[in-house]
Parts: sequence; structure tokens; C-alpha cells
Amino acid sequence: MEKKTAKELAEELLYKAPHAADADPDCIAKAQEFCEGYKKFLDDGKTEREAVQAGEKLLVEAGYRKFERGMKLNPGDKIYYVNREKCLLASTIGTNSLEAGLHINAAHVDAPRLDLKPTPLYEKDGLSLFKTHYYGGIRKYQWVATPLALHGVIYKKDGERVNICIGENAGDPVFCITDLLPHLSADQNKRTLSDGIRGEELNILVGSLPFMDEEASDRIKLYTMQLLNEKYGITERDFIRAEIEVVPAAKAADIGFDRGLVGGYGQDDRSCAYTALMAEIECKNPAFTTLCVLTDKEEIGSVGYTGLSSDFMLNYIRKLAACMNADIVEVLEHSRCLSADVSAAYDPTFPDAFDPRNSAYINKGVTLTKYTGSRGKGGTNDANAEMMEYAMRLLDNAGVVWQTGELGKVDQGGGGTVALMIASLGVDTVDIGVPVLAMHSPFEITAKADVYNTYRAFAAFANSAE
Ligand code: MN
Ligand code: MN
Repeated sequence: MEKKTAKELAEELLYKAPHAADADPDCIAKAQEFCEGYKKFLDDGKTEREAVQAGEKLLVEAGYRKFERGMKLNPGDKIYYVNREKCLLASTIGTNSLEAGLHINAAHVDAPRLDLKPTPLYEKDGLSLFKTHYYGGIRKYQWVATPLALHGVIYKKDGERVNICIGENAGDPVFCITDLLPHLSADQNKRTLSDGIRGEELNILVGSLPFMDEEASDRIKLYTMQLLNEKYGITERDFIRAEIEVVPAAKAADIGFDRGLVGGYGQDDRSCAYTALMAEIECKNPAFTTLCVLTDKEEIGSVGYTGLSSDFMLNYIRKLAACMNADIVEVLEHSRCLSADVSAAYDPTFPDAFDPRNSAYINKGVTLTKYTGSRGKGGTNDANAEMMEYAMRLLDNAGVVWQTGELGKVDQGGGGTVALMIASLGVDTVDIGVPVLAMHSPFEITAKADVYNTYRAFAAFANSAE
């Protein structure tokens, strides 16, 4: 046998994920271009409803038709369905029989935020404020002293709907949560970081001027309500049925001198939602019928009738199967799913939270994750070797830059994804997605090359003949 040098042998035998710029130099410029559309999607869709609306617009522009029961469907046809304005499903009909299975690509469009309480408005010591109840996993101290915007819908007594979006356009007022000055924070400084700002301290400052009648009480609250009534025709009682979400007012932006990164709110999981949607839209005449699912409620456990624990996706597949005279059990048993959600990127400032050998890194491509969960793999879909083999081959054959990584070191924390819910239908499922720094913060960070390679991974899956 020919004698090899250590370098030759190492190249042959050892594994190290390369930097995207080394593995595929062309992808850097392509990623820059791709992420212009991505940043717009982030700005257009700061809530699950807005993300679905932005997604629906892209689908309609691309010629998708609304899916209806009993529709006649042919290979190449493109259809979509919206569940309660908060979930988007889209398909391209394949040349294979539906019983050959679906290629499902599932991401979520809800993101951690602050929701208004049912009766949010109050006045205290000369200011009017909104009470909030946070949604999803937030680090509360990150949400103070930063500009916030209000998005949502309010129904009036007569049933008329009012859409609200304040704090996004130039000239709009913004809102914020106050924090103590360092000079007077001696007591607060003794709290732990997780307790530094408490849930009942996440109160949004919304007004400071009084209604002009010195005899009246709560004049600042009254003036705030008067302004809301003049602009939107609402009364305080209408808040009870409203859905108002408080999100960061900042727009998505390039980060770094080299513009290699994107900073912005809601990249968990709209980085995967946008890439999945683009792959779906650009897919032409696939072998397998595709199903791109953008769901709500992942951040609170996929619960409720807009979460993937409900049957909304299954019902769509049932209707699709009925249209095409396919046996639903056959369809599900032969389907595969890429569960598209972000992973934690290794952070050099906080290395102790990670196992450096088993972490995802910024700019090393899309992250293929065998399992998520916490403790002893609690709450995970642990993909089997066969599904991992399928996914690795798919990515390699398409020249996608990819890496692997798990969510931080063992027993440090953990998390789950929608993989569980889709796997529970008996569908082969694996987790995959964009690595993110500062996940769940008001300003999350991704690498453009990773976002682009995630799109390429999803495109390879949508177009795969296997
Ligand atoms: Mn997520
Ligand atoms: Mn999340």
C-alpha cells in the first residue's frame, strides 16, 4: 500500500465543516443578492399574520391558485391555502402519484414578542401605559429601553376590523419600556439576570399628555384613549378582543464592514420560512408533490388551532388526497419532511454554553440537526440513520454548503421544533435550518451565506426525484 502523509490521510479520513466562502466561493455574491428579498420579507412580516400576508402575496404573484375541495389538479399546478390568516400551505403538484409521498418543508412564522393584555391601558403617576404578557421565550431585560412598534388587529363593536401598525413608518411615534438609571439601580442590581426585569415590569409607555379638563381623573389615560378613538374608532372595551403584538421597531440591516450578516427581528424562524417559500415558488414540475408549511404557535409549543399540533396540515393533505384519489395512509407513509427551524450558532463571547465540536457556526452553511430537545433528548424527533443518510446525500449531490450541530452543550438548556408534530403522522422527518446568533432577542443575527444555502437545501429537496 502506498504510504500517505498525515495531511493526505487527514484529508481523506477526518471531517471538518468548511467555511462557505471556501466551499463555494460563488455563493457569497449570490447570498448578498438573495438576502435583499429576505430583509424585505423580515420588514414586511413582523407578526405571523403579516408574514402570511407577505407570503400569500408572493405566491399569488407567482401564479398560485387558492386550493379548493374537489379541484382538478395536474402535475405542475401550484396551489395554496391559508389557515385563519396565520398559517400558509403551498404545493406544486408532482409528476409522481400522490401516494409516492409528499416532500414537506415546514417552518414557523410566529416569533417571541410582547402581547397586550385584554385590558392593557392604565395611567400611573403622570404616564399612560399598556400592560403586556410576553409570548414565547424571551430574555425580558433585552426588551427595555429600545424602540417598539405595535402591530395587530382590533374588531369594533359593529364587527368592523381595524388593522394597526404604528412605529414602522418614518414620522410614526414609537413606544418603549423604561428601565432604571444606573445611579438608582442598587436594589435592582442585586436581582439575578433572569429576574432583572420582571413580567409585570414589561409595561409599554404610550402617553404623557392629559385631556384638558382639570376636574377629571385619569386624564392622561383618557387622552390616550381619545386619540385612539379618533384615529381607529375604538373604545377601551375593544381591546378585550384585539390582538396587538409589540415588536422591535428596528428594520433588518446588514451587519459588518463586509455586509456578510443580517441583523433583524424574527429571523427565528422567518429565515427558514422565507427560504422554504422561495424554494417552493421556484420549483417547477417536481417528481414529488411539495408541501411548504408556514405555521403559527411554534414558540409556545405548537398548540391551538393555528399550531401544528392541530390537524390543519393533516386536513389539507386529506383534501389533497381526496382530490387525487389517493390513500392518505400511503401518502403519509411515503412522505418526507425537512423541519425547517433555526439552530443556535456558536458564540465566541459565550463559548461555555456550547460543545465546540458539535455546534453550528456562522458561515458554515445550513445546519442539519439529527435531534433537538433537552436533557436526555427529551422532546425531540431523533431522526434515524436512514433519514440522515437521505438528507446528507441530498445536500452533497446539490453542492449545498452544510454543517451539523446540536443546540448547545448537554444539560445547558435545549428546545424543540415542529419536527415532533410532523413525525407523529408517521412521516420521516429531520431538523434543518439557519444558524442564528442572539436567538430570540429583539435583534437576531444570521449569515447571508447560511440563509442562501438553506434556500439551496430546500430547493434541492423540492426538486429531488428521490
Ligand atoms: Mn424556531
Ligand atoms: Mn424559537
